[in-house]
Amino acid sequence: MTPDAFDPHNHQDCIADGLAAAERHCAREGLQFTPIRRRVLEILLGDHTALGAYDILDRLRKDGLNAQPPMAYRALDFLVMHGFAHRIERLNAFIACSHLHGDHTPAFLICRTCQRVVETDTDPAAGELGRAARQAGFVIERTVREAEGLCPACAEAA
Ligand SMILES: [Zn+2]
Ligand SMILES: [Zn+2]
Ligand SMILES: [Zn+2]
Repeated sequence: MTPDAFDPHNHQDCIADGLAAAERHCAREGLQFTPIRRRVLEILLGDHTALGAYDILDRLRKDGLNAQPPMAYRALDFLVMHGFAHRIERLNAFIACSHLHGDHTPAFLICRTCQRVVETDTDPAAGELGRAARQAGFVIERTVREAEGLCPACAEAA
């Protein structure tokens, strides 16, 4: 597991590890890790904040690419589909996955002041929701867990 976004850490390692893990995964699964997909993941890894599709498009254009919205959306779809990134519904934005190993059910802690997001892992079958679902004979396939609040740094400043 990569360090917590709220803790100080060597962020260059985060970026390098994230890209290397995605490269390995794509090579193993025979997926095309095109330059644009790689660049979008790198942009997402560049910050522990969630970025909207248009923020990503801006960065691509700053790279000198004549990027159009469908290009950014297709790259994001690919990254989300293969688990390299997640969509934060609350913010309508995307974040690089920080648990690059296998299936997991992410939950997000979103700082409303600095917009940093920490990804944690939860099991939807555990806890109260899981119990309620079992009682109802319901099979949970997907849950959205997003908590909004203050990170330690912003809580201290407040
Ligand atoms: Zn980092
Ligand atoms: Zn993840
Ligand atoms: Zn914060």
